[in-house]
Amino acid sequence: DQHTIYVITPTYARLVQKAELTRLSQTFLHVPQLHWIVVEDSEQPTALVRDLLASSGLAYTQLHILTPKDRKLQEGDPSWLKPRGAEQRNEGLRWLRETASASRGQHGAASDDAVVYFADDDNTYSLRLFEEMRDTKRVSVWPVGLVGGMRFESPVVEGGKVVRFHTGWRPNRPFPIDMAGFAVSMRLVLANPDARFDGNAQMGYLESSFLQGLVTMEQLEPKAEMCTKILVWHTRTEKPKMKREEALQKQGLGSDPHVEV
Ligand code: UDP
Ligand code: MN
Repeated sequence: DQHTIYVITPTYARLVQKAELTRLSQTFLHVPQLHWIVVEDSEQPTALVRDLLASSGLAYTQLHILTPKDRKLQEGDPSWLKPRGAEQRNEGLRWLRETASASRGQHGAASDDAVVYFADDDNTYSLRLFEEMRDTKRVSVWPVGLVGGMRFESPVVEGGKVVRFHTGWRPNRPFPIDMAGFAVSMRLVLANPDARFDGNAQMGYLESSFLQGLVTMEQLEPKAEMCTKILVWHTRTEKPKMKREEALQKQGLGSDPHVEV
């Protein structure tokens, strides 16, 4: 019996959303015992995400919570100004805690041995990553490729323990680890009901705001061959240009808006 992996993915409506979620869902189809918690940054659940999940073949939960306007990046803001996806990840945590307490002791209840991972919708995930994180006791960690202006960032392991972090930026942060670089045990999430992401955290401190109360550096469990293998990449998708579309729209010849892209 394998431990379940709960993957929490914040997502928001934009031209590439369906492409991102399609790619991600088809990666997850290859992972046994995975439950996908998709949290939309929207006022209401959308039909696009509902239909995609219903036909995905995955075990899933669809949630939504709108990022308050004062916390949301505005068009033209530099992308580092405010953390993205914080309230959505917290909503996923809320659902997990609520579901676990409602079903405590019941057969098939979300077991304490389950694992929680935060997977943004645009990153690239190796299937091996999920087997590395599956036996997380508290918090497991590994390198992340193509992040922070570096080829990779990584915990540095000596004698089997994490002793510092390889990062190009603000190395004194409590946990200079990208969101894609750690997983947490359900036991720890449930034992710390107040642990959450601080949507007002300073730039680069979102991950630390969550991990700080949960674990110390010495307790981190290094995975991916003592943090020497890259199994996840912080890829980012180019925003598609709509120049022709806009030009044609002016002549009434734009692409059929009823076709879902
Ligand atoms: N996201 C969101 N609302 C937003 C912007 C982003 O829910 O207004 C989600 C996005 O879909 C992704 C995560 O938050 O799953 C991180 O966003 P992004 O990939 O843009 O961040 P970056 O790659 O710049 O760290
Ligand atoms: Mn991203």
